[in-house]
Amino acid sequence: MSDYQMYIDGAFTEAESGDSYATYNPATGEKIADIAKGGREDVDRAVSAARKAFDEGPWPKMSGAERAALVRQMGEKIQQKINELAELEVKDGGGTIRKAMMADVNTCAGVFLKYAEYAESIPDTEDLPDFSVMPGLPGVPNYLKYEPIGVCGQITPWNFPLVMASWKIAPAIAAGNTIVLKPASITSLTALELARIADEVGFPPGVVNVVTGPGGTVGEAIASHPGVDKVAFTGSTEVGARIMQLAAPTVKKVTLELGGKSAGIVTEDVNLELAAKGILWGTFFHNGQVCESGTRAVVNEKIYDDLVSLMSEKAGTLKLGDPLDFATDEGPLVSQAQLETVERYVEIGKKEAKLVCGGSRASGDALDQGYFFEPTIFADVDNGDKIAQEEIFGPVLSVIKVKDDEEAVAVANDSMYGLAGAVWSNDIERAKGIAERMRTGTIWINEHHLLGPEHPFGGYKQSGVGYEMGVDGYRAYQAKKRIHVDANTDPNAHFTFSLIFSQ
Ligand code: NAD
Repeated sequence: MSDYQMYIDGAFTEAESGDSYATYNPATGEKIADIAKGGREDVDRAVSAARKAFDEGPWPKMSGAERAALVRQMGEKIQQKINELAELEVKDGGGTIRKAMMADVNTCAGVFLKYAEYAESIPDTEDLPDFSVMPGLPGVPNYLKYEPIGVCGQITPWNFPLVMASWKIAPAIAAGNTIVLKPASITSLTALELARIADEVGFPPGVVNVVTGPGGTVGEAIASHPGVDKVAFTGSTEVGARIMQLAAPTVKKVTLELGGKSAGIVTEDVNLELAAKGILWGTFFHNGQVCESGTRAVVNEKIYDDLVSLMSEKAGTLKLGDPLDFATDEGPLVSQAQLETVERYVEIGKKEAKLVCGGSRASGDALDQGYFFEPTIFADVDNGDKIAQEEIFGPVLSVIKVKDDEEAVAVANDSMYGLAGAVWSNDIERAKGIAERMRTGTIWINEHHLLGPEHPFGGYKQSGVGYEMGVDGYRAYQAKKRIHVDANTDPNAHFTFSLIFSQ
């Protein structure tokens, strides 16, 4: 029997094939557990359960307040299990215990609590203006009714397993949908713990389903399944494009949160200490394995050299080590494969630009067995270089020199991505002017990474389609029905009929 089973129709279950696969601790390379390895037949089972729960079950018919009561319990139980969940998140996905406690579990719980509040407070009807266009028609009232979309297939990446699962599950179920979630195969454990919590809360069977297994089979089966009404995907732009293709034949609704190569623009009047710390926070938080990481620093030439040397000095103080130790600043990367990707890009960077900090696998007693890489900074990067254009998804910062704000904005916008960005400046009005010219979905002024459940998040260009979080993220899980109400029952009073009846 697997250590971790899938969750389908209100019960934990093995894969129909009986297959399982191992998941490893990236800090030590040791196996943690065996997980049931799902296939197409398991997706069929999960989609039928979600379909039945949507088409015949109570969940979509319940009031927002009734649903909110269960969604809120989910948030509260997650908060109560902060220690277990945080430790498991670190053992399965890397990062640090400080990040897991302060950011991952708290955010995950907060998202469920916020969407419980939205389910109670966001109205599911909205008045529209009376009908007015055709001559001879008196104003006739119209209104919108918001309804759940149906069965939602949800696919998440490995970088923030708990947070990404909460972004998917909470708004979907709060709005009355049923879901089939596939977490990233290398970091599935905490999504299965969320399924356990959902089981304790007692959602009707089939409302929440979690199918584990590879993207190429389980993910493809979800994204193409005729029983799925919407697919919400977070991951790479390459796979996001594939999801659109898979969803196209059955015209599913699609939300995509994809890759990024975000720029942090630094003006010459900045507080250097703030900019240095802020850019390193923007780049090296979770080793740069964050979609909105600010991996391009676009710096005014007047302060360029000073800022590069200050950042190099500070990056050298970040402490790599045991991720379960609260004193550790940087844990391991998620996997051997990701470590190799980073190494490959760093070798390219060494040919394209000037390495000023890091550049190698980290070594030392506690580090040799795990997937640790030094925080790495390249200076004199040209924005056309591979390391400035491609998403490395690792601890690698490219620093680019510009002469003024106009060039900085042009450089920042010269990217296929448009997910996020930052402006570091002492002049807030100037910073706002720069922010408004950047072609991305989120910009921070003198900050980075702060995402709240009340704020919409989405990408420009090839960074995504649609929005998650905030009220937009709730509406993204609703269909919108317009209802036209003509109370006049006299057949002769309907001007429209005269368009086909001449008498
Ligand atoms: P990925 O695209 O490789 O995988 C994401 C998910 O898709 C995983 O669950 C994977 O198993 C599944 N998958 C893979 N191939 C599939 C296929 N053919 N059909 C269906 N599903 C498939 O991404 P990743 O490496 O797990 O995560 C890193 C990427 O995610 C980065 O590009 C990052 O920028 C992006 N990301 C974006 C956001 C955002 O909100 N915009 C947030 C986090 C991560």
